[in-house]
Amino acid sequence: MTDVLRILEIDLTKKEATIVQRPDLAHWLGGTGLALALFAETEGPELPIGDPGQPIVFAIGPMTFVYPVVTKTVAVFRSPLTGEYGESHAGGRLAMALRHCDLSALVIKGEAEGPLWLEINNGHVSFKNAEPLWGTGCSHTGRRLRDLTQGRSFRSIIRIGPAGENKVAFAGVNVDTFRHFGRLGLGACFGYKKLKGIVVTGDLDNSAVDLPKYRKVYNRLYQKTVRTDLMKKYHDLGTAVNVLPLNAMKALPTLNMQSGSFAEAEAISGEKFAENHLIRKLACSGCPIGCIHIALLRQEFASGHEYVSSEVAYDYELIFALGSYLGISSPSEILALIDTCEQSGLDVIASGIVAGWATEASVNGLINPNELKIELSFGEVKGYRQLFEYISRPQTTLHRDMGRGVRFLGEKYGGAEYAMHVAGNEMPGYFTGYGYLLGVGAGARHSHLDNGGYAFDQEMQGDNDNLLVEKIIAEDQRRGMLTSLCICLFARKIYDDDDIVDALGALGYHWNTAALSNLGEQIFKQKHLIRQRMGITGDLPDFPRRFFETECLLGKLDAQRMQDIWNLWLEKTGF
Ligand code: SF4
Repeated sequence: MTDVLRILEIDLTKKEATIVQRPDLAHWLGGTGLALALFAETEGPELPIGDPGQPIVFAIGPMTFVYPVVTKTVAVFRSPLTGEYGESHAGGRLAMALRHCDLSALVIKGEAEGPLWLEINNGHVSFKNAEPLWGTGCSHTGRRLRDLTQGRSFRSIIRIGPAGENKVAFAGVNVDTFRHFGRLGLGACFGYKKLKGIVVTGDLDNSAVDLPKYRKVYNRLYQKTVRTDLMKKYHDLGTAVNVLPLNAMKALPTLNMQSGSFAEAEAISGEKFAENHLIRKLACSGCPIGCIHIALLRQEFASGHEYVSSEVAYDYELIFALGSYLGISSPSEILALIDTCEQSGLDVIASGIVAGWATEASVNGLINPNELKIELSFGEVKGYRQLFEYISRPQTTLHRDMGRGVRFLGEKYGGAEYAMHVAGNEMPGYFTGYGYLLGVGAGARHSHLDNGGYAFDQEMQGDNDNLLVEKIIAEDQRRGMLTSLCICLFARKIYDDDDIVDALGALGYHWNTAALSNLGEQIFKQKHLIRQRMGITGDLPDFPRRFFETECLLGKLDAQRMQDIWNLWLEKTGF
């Protein structure tokens, strides 16, 4: 096992940076495991949200940019949205740029006196004034940072928009073009620190490989990636292919979860987006697949046939959150809403869920129209566009409250039964049954990606709760191992454990399959220990009542059965 882990520690208060070597953390490999370990050794789990001592940790892994589809950078932080463990993954070019700085991780602490951005070049940090950029949208900021760092090789630009600056609890961080640390509010963590963005550039060559062995393993994995059907759907229609099948199984959240199917699903299907709007497909650096689907959005900005065109990335989650969830059946209108969130730096899923609650709450007279300042109605795009502007640049207390997430809104204004979150995180779009609720509820970051519990509802059709719990735990542990290697989860079927052992072996890391599985178990435990340090108990999350009223793939869910399944999970995990 190699012991070269180089961690760049940055203190924004003191404007100081140091690189430290941490051979003692090599058993965590990288990614999730390493970021988690670095986060755990700080006071972050105990400190309140917004405390300057709260760290933001980014980590990559030993296979990053060396093997196909190993593209992700993992961020770990305390979530301003849930108050719990925050973990978010982004593709794009960031992992590649960090690799070319010869860094395994960044740990950012402190709070800047005034807005700044960081330039990290080959591991050297410059602290730059971001005053002129403060208040600008994500695209403008990205272009400006690109101009200011022209001529550098292997570059990645990450930044926040007004939503992050205004500490919207579900603000994201935009990564290069079309990628994000979207969920759980990393953008607000940047905002608290007055950190507008980071540009990472590097041209160091840090590869130390057994070349003949590496070529052999690489070719095998490459062939598996591009010559089999394992990843075909991601390139073809992308995850948008899920719209129609999920609609057919009543798992497509619609009209603020009043239904699991959308009468106009056909119009917003992946097929329709591809036929009428898709212009190209892109890939994260180091990925031969290219699942990023880009559509052309043409908008009239003045009379006299004056149009502006922009490119907008779409996928299933965005289509559900701003489409069926809000009753919008026009792909162009969905693209326009995505674009608004993109420029403001808002997480699209959370934005859609908040907008769904606000629509019903306004009809039910729970919120003051003078505070809302707009009219909201399912299917009407104009109000939603303005709403997202107001959330990212609030003008009233209600707008500011909307930036605290749907759980807060339900508790303060009422309508908690249709404020659709799981433990404070706005619901993801696969409402299949008990596996979905357990997977998102028990997953340490309350994401459908923690363990893909919804897939087991589809596979098992609710016929064995004991097995369901076991499968979700095993998958959670396996995903912890995969994301410690920073493998994109879309490639989880490409990399079996033997492949990973070989791939690591060619790079000088001597692991075996038992050690990999032990790593997954340790990460699983560590995440839950961190949650305990944050004061989170093992109680069943307070699921909004609508989860048990709206029919899904498994019919109407029963609250008592859900509690029994939860108890099984507690029994098996010991948390
Ligand atoms: S499959 Fe998609 S998200 Fe995953 S690495 Fe490739 S382009 Fe990026």
